[in-house]
Amino acid sequence: MYFSLSPEAACFRAEARRFLDASLDEELRRAADLTVGIHAQIDASQRWYRKLAEKGWIAPSWPVEYGGTGWSPLQCHIFNLECFQARAPLLCQLGIRHLGPVLMAHGTPEQRARFIPPILSGEHIWCQGYSEPSAGSDLAALSLRAERVNDEYRLNGTKLWTTGAHCSTHICCLVRTAQGERKQDGITYLLIDMSSPGLTVEPIISISGDHELNQVFFEDVRVPVTNRVGAENDGWRVAKDQMQFARSNNVNTGWVRQMLLRLGRLCHRRPEGRNTCLADDPAIRQRLSEADIRLQGVEMLELRVLSDLSVNRSPGALTSMLKTRASEVKQQITELAMQAAAYHALPFQPQLLDPTHCSASASDADIVTAMPAYLNERAATIYSGASEIQRDVLAKRVLAL
Ligand SMILES: Cc1cc2nc3c(=O)[nH]c(=O)nc-3n(C[C@H](O)[C@H](O)[C@H](O)COP(=O)(O)OP(=O)(O)OC[C@H]3O[C@@H](n4cnc5c(N)ncnc54)[C@H](O)[C@@H]3O)c2cc1C
Repeated sequence: MYFSLSPEAACFRAEARRFLDASLDEELRRAADLTVGIHAQIDASQRWYRKLAEKGWIAPSWPVEYGGTGWSPLQCHIFNLECFQARAPLLCQLGIRHLGPVLMAHGTPEQRARFIPPILSGEHIWCQGYSEPSAGSDLAALSLRAERVNDEYRLNGTKLWTTGAHCSTHICCLVRTAQGERKQDGITYLLIDMSSPGLTVEPIISISGDHELNQVFFEDVRVPVTNRVGAENDGWRVAKDQMQFARSNNVNTGWVRQMLLRLGRLCHRRPEGRNTCLADDPAIRQRLSEADIRLQGVEMLELRVLSDLSVNRSPGALTSMLKTRASEVKQQITELAMQAAAYHALPFQPQLLDPTHCSASASDADIVTAMPAYLNERAATIYSGASEIQRDVLAKRVLAL
């Protein structure tokens, strides 16, 4: 199958390329090369966020009335691919990708007016407080208590594995406001300022030495009732929508394609004094091809999801398939990269991942990032719904088992 762009789409791509060429400096590109987690180093990520915001391109998939570009799904896809091709940093964009659509679907006009502009400008950085020590896959078992006192909720409890809580200004949380007949009843969706008194953040250092994860504690934290999205005890419905956005939005196949290109570069690297490289080995070439074919499958799945979304049709269980396959391909690529970097991957040198201090070339970055990226990607089959849970969804909704 061959795809070619229409003249209009090719013209759009040329415009995107011109903007990216003019706007990405070497430090931003280096930050992209040195990314080992779900977003680039936070300063670089935010600097790039603001540049996109100034241009009016930070929310490609949003409608114009909310400050989006109004682009078609195809234009959004082209822009996404071009960003990664141009080595743009991965953004920290829970606000754009998950919360914005939730506010458009379930927020009040007042909430949209209050929360959407600072999402667009980058002034508010959002994180997601769903999981708890006893509520992960079984999310509806969550127990962080929110007690209604007049026009406020008082929150007590904890959230676990909160990505980016330490650099966020706000958190969207699922809290328990009642014990319903079903666990899903009695859950409420709240928007919370991270600077609220009684809210504290404890770091969790990952296996790669990175600080992305946190535990967030709530001790009598007061949240105005006006920060509730949807009705009291009806937060599960809001959260289900957000999880659907997350599964179809978290994949970034353009980024995974770059990971594969970087792996190819690593395998074609000829160490000084040697005229052979890993890619000369047919077994390595076969593994590279296998990864490429799997990724092409994921790219096709992503296009199917986008095509459903473009006509307001729910992609349903396709998002579970996409999430599962994409995480597995990422793991496969980082595993190969770690093996290709071989003993060069062993030294633990987190300082080399700082784009402001490191002058690593793109090719050196491939080696420096191999081990931490491999370690971090182990989590890809856990977050945003573990693979076992996604396979359950597929069994029930696709195979009707
Ligand atoms: C890197 C990372 C970032 C994260 N970021 C966030 C975040 O920002 N915000 C947030 O709220 N949460 C976040 N999470 C939490 C994540 O959503 C949960 O870890 C995930 O839902 C799994 O829950 P758990 O860790 O409690 O594991 P469990 O639910 O205890 O699962 C343990 C194992 O049992 C399997 N299992 C559980 N139930 C079933 C079942 N019914 N059938 C078959 N197998 C089952 C699981 O698949 C898994 O392999 C993050 C997690 C990670 C690792």
